[in-house]
Amino acid sequence: MNLHELSIAQLTRLLEGKKTSPEEIYTSFLTRIKEINPKINAYLTVINKPELDYSMRDKPLFGIPYSMKDTYNTKGIRTTAAAKVLDNYISPYDATAYTKLKKAGAVLIGKTNCDAWGHGSSTENSDFGPTKNPWNRDYVPGGSSGGSAASLAADLCSFSIGEDTGGSIRLPASFCSVVGLKPTYGLVSRYGCIAYASSLDTVGPMARSVEDTALVLEVLAGADSCDATTSQSKPPRYSQFLGRKIAGLKMGIPKEYFMKGMDDTVASTIAKAMKDLQKLGVEPVEISLPMTEYAISTYYLIAPSETSSNLARYDGIRFGTTRRSFGAEAKRRIMLGTFTLSHGYYDAYYKKATKVRTLIKNDFENAFKAVDFIIAPASPTPPFKLGEKVDDPLKMYLSDIYLVSVNLAGVPALSVPCGFTGNKLPISFQLIGRHFDETTLLNIGYQYEQVHGIYERPRIK
Ligand code: GLN
Repeated sequence: MNLHELSIAQLTRLLEGKKTSPEEIYTSFLTRIKEINPKINAYLTVINKPELDYSMRDKPLFGIPYSMKDTYNTKGIRTTAAAKVLDNYISPYDATAYTKLKKAGAVLIGKTNCDAWGHGSSTENSDFGPTKNPWNRDYVPGGSSGGSAASLAADLCSFSIGEDTGGSIRLPASFCSVVGLKPTYGLVSRYGCIAYASSLDTVGPMARSVEDTALVLEVLAGADSCDATTSQSKPPRYSQFLGRKIAGLKMGIPKEYFMKGMDDTVASTIAKAMKDLQKLGVEPVEISLPMTEYAISTYYLIAPSETSSNLARYDGIRFGTTRRSFGAEAKRRIMLGTFTLSHGYYDAYYKKATKVRTLIKNDFENAFKAVDFIIAPASPTPPFKLGEKVDDPLKMYLSDIYLVSVNLAGVPALSVPCGFTGNKLPISFQLIGRHFDETTLLNIGYQYEQVHGIYERPRIK
């Protein structure tokens, strides 16, 4: 087996037994990046000569190469958020996620493509060209963290750090058949992550298996004095809970999520996954999340409002080039957000959206009185073709129908691969949990994967 195909645990075992070296692992990934990346455009920046620090030998992710969405500050390295505005921007400091991974011995191999500023669901809003889906290059990899998901599916890194404001970790993970976790808001520090919508942004791991995801989450999670919204509680060692008993847990099936409009193959694949989970002992319970129909409009009022404020700092004086270099989607959102925050419209739009947000959060709180976790599709359709939705923003926004409520409520959700369409396009379910209950989601995802694991990788010619 090639080194770039191995899991974190397998690589760590080889390193501990001195059967390989960090140099050898890095070279294996780098050689593959040189061959494959020109075909899929997953990386915007590749680090050819890493600093490999042997004093980190005892650390949990020693010698493991990973990629990061290009929205994280990494001192001395180009950081663009896939936006022309920051074309030649070099980070002056490190994001906390990057600092923690460095301290854990992990090695950054490159920065991945995404929709500019995280605005999008297909990576087609990148100012540096779209990323292509490694399973079929005529299709989108999902977005906004599409480069991260594609870099994993193509074995161009062993894990990746994405960012999820309204599904940007879970949707690309689903479209590329990899695992993605959107953590509880406040579990992982956002310090140094280029802000999209600060009350919704979360920093999370993406990987090729649930176990790898848990190993990375335990490095990322925890309080940070640079981010006052992080929780002070000490997070558990997630990987130690994998394999614990799940029989008897109650699985909520929201009736609003399983209505017409969903693609038939997605519907039947998710139905099969639910049966498979029942074989593991979980009990299905029908639940209702009545505010679901308002989620997209609420999200697409709150997120643009916040982004219009966050993007005001890119004025061409302190950061980057002139405001004229903003792309069409960023301009659309700045205008929409400025409108909803303006005098006379604030109460009618922004304020009302924040009230509906509370009702959406209440929906989840009520549901979790009766169930331990909720299952949902990650997307109503399989991956769509490049160009299919990019000229119709409303159609594109609807791809996020099962994703954005989770961010509005601040709860965690894990996207797990569960099958393919007839023409080999990936499908995933997501498991949604109580605040700070990542442990349950990872454990269920892990056990599902042990039995049904989709470890297959795309053939890239
Ligand atoms: N597709 C959503 C949007 O365009 C989600 C983006 C994200 O999570 N960063 O806003």
